[in-house]
Amino acid sequence: MANTRTKYIFMTGGVVSSLGKGLASSSIGSLLELRGLKVIFLKFDPYINVDPGTMNPFQHGEVYVTDDGAEADLDLGHYERYSNVKTSKKNNFTTGQIYDSVISKERKGDYLGSTVQVIPHITDEIKSKIFDLAQDVDIVIVEVGGTVGDIESLPFLEAIRQIRGDVGRENTLYIHLTLVPYIQTAGELKTKPTQHSVKELREIGIQPDILLCRTDRMLSPDVKAKIALFCNVEKDAVITAKNVETVYEVPIVFHQEGLDEKIVEKLNIWTGRPNLKGWERVVKKVKHPRFETTIALVGKYVSLVESYKSLTEALIHGGIANDARVNLKYIDSEQVEKEGPECFLKDANGILVPGGFGTRGIEGKIKAIQYAREKRIPYFGICLGMQCAVIEIARHCAGLKGANSSEFDTHTPHAVIYLLEEWIDRDQVAQKRASDTPKGGTMRLGSYPCRLEEGSLALEAYNKRLINERHRHRYEFNNDYMDILGKAGMVFSGVSPDMGLIEIIELKGHPWFLGCQFHPEFKSKPMDPHPLFREFIKASLRRGKRKPDRARVSKKRREMKGG
Ligand code: GLN
Repeated sequence: MANTRTKYIFMTGGVVSSLGKGLASSSIGSLLELRGLKVIFLKFDPYINVDPGTMNPFQHGEVYVTDDGAEADLDLGHYERYSNVKTSKKNNFTTGQIYDSVISKERKGDYLGSTVQVIPHITDEIKSKIFDLAQDVDIVIVEVGGTVGDIESLPFLEAIRQIRGDVGRENTLYIHLTLVPYIQTAGELKTKPTQHSVKELREIGIQPDILLCRTDRMLSPDVKAKIALFCNVEKDAVITAKNVETVYEVPIVFHQEGLDEKIVEKLNIWTGRPNLKGWERVVKKVKHPRFETTIALVGKYVSLVESYKSLTEALIHGGIANDARVNLKYIDSEQVEKEGPECFLKDANGILVPGGFGTRGIEGKIKAIQYAREKRIPYFGICLGMQCAVIEIARHCAGLKGANSSEFDTHTPHAVIYLLEEWIDRDQVAQKRASDTPKGGTMRLGSYPCRLEEGSLALEAYNKRLINERHRHRYEFNNDYMDILGKAGMVFSGVSPDMGLIEIIELKGHPWFLGCQFHPEFKSKPMDPHPLFREFIKASLRRGKRKPDRARVSKKRREMKGG
């Protein structure tokens, strides 16, 4: 049932997708936290998959992993980076999950013979997920994925519409994010798409209280007045959400537009003003760093940056910690496989191979790692990137011809990476699997402890012996090869205390070479950069430190301004 103390902010989006609803929700959450309120986030995804774990990153972007092992929407990553909230399985639901629970209740007979329908059964299930989160928090920020007008999002919109009736007007706020495009030929900002989008929302019974207008320039008072009139919102509730140079500027820009003030006024909450010093420091470091460095990211999904969202953010955070801009070069591993590493990697100060699945491009990744090892370029391998480093060292330093992961070659003579068939999950439950086990939700998922070894790069970075990091993989390092790989220079610097699994490897005699089986990028924040990313960027700066190229930076700024 609804908690009477908690208030609800509902975020919807219109006109087109990718306007940054997740960033807007996160920035609002941050501003409210900085006003001393306790917030929590909930993301609804209208697709039918039970979770994004089985979806192609090309289509869906990164799969974010929570401590408790949910494979979740990447917006949960924004929520964690912008606020103090720790997300879990309760912070992201898909249509698939909602129907799944309604259908299993129906099978159990919970609906006592009634006809099970979208309204009220599906909408009640959606509402129960929202009310479940309303324990001990001041505000639940609910983001409805998709764009108003999509068939799929209708039950979610109907559920949030009903909540105003359930908990009262003063406890609910509807914020709608739309696009106000500048049309070059007319020399004008156009408000019509926003008007249409609000009309669509009103048709299903939701009158937005605040409009966030995504645009490339400030909205003039006239434009705001026009939008206010046609969309039936107050003039000062039309907020310019202007494009910014760094995403970490969004909370500052929203605050300057009076958004957080408007929200607390409408929800009738008394709070102090937010202190934005932390965000200002982050933005200053991102916009005006003293140094710059180039990192090559050798991966498969390089054509879609969303696929590596947390990773690219974590690299920026590593830059912030070192007062440096990180220039990322996305390199397609298949190209490296075909043309060799030299032409792609010779100007990189650091090389990173990220997580991934499937055989395509693997040999290119191994070549890139060999190049990093031989040329003594700092190397950071994450999950698959660690596994490929093990294969590379096995083949080229330990003489294990044909060494591979059994994921890529089931007949390899040396399965240095193999499928762990029996293991203990986070809840201490024994699990079994084989290569033909169903794909969804069967990985080693979520946070696991790792003990760091004395004298290692890892311990130097974390400066503590026991760490916890998030995992998402099936395959593991094969401990039968510890001796021979140890003799070849591999250092096993992180081990899981309960299962004896190898979590981190390093390489003796190399300036900085580290592979980890977990995904550190999920825990990095702009105000608290992850130690491994901080040290990797530091090592890359030792290899090649440059002052930023001012001309290129100002050109980028001009482009951002739309000039
Ligand atoms: N494909 C590898 C595995 O399943 C690595 C996964 C990853 O990089 N996240 O173990």
